[in-house]
Amino acid sequence: MAYYIHDECISCGACEAECPVSCISAGDTKYVIDPEECIECGACADVCPVDAPKPE
Ligand code: SF4
Ligand code: SF4
Repeated sequence: MAYYIHDECISCGACEAECPVSCISAGDTKYVIDPEECIECGACADVCPVDAPKPE
């Protein structure tokens, strides 16, 4: 289980700085989460303006 960034992502970058394990990075069309590193803290979802990161 990990959080997953859905297509609503507008690539604002706000979540990347908030992730305590630095597992968020810019992808080709949206930001992406490394599911192997995510600890499901929810910090990315809390700062996202479009509610794109959700638990999978
Ligand atoms: Fe990082 Fe937490 Fe979001 Fe997982 S849920 S990507 S650990 S901020
Ligand atoms: Fe995308 Fe939300 Fe992260 Fe911004 S905060 S890069 S919109 S997932």
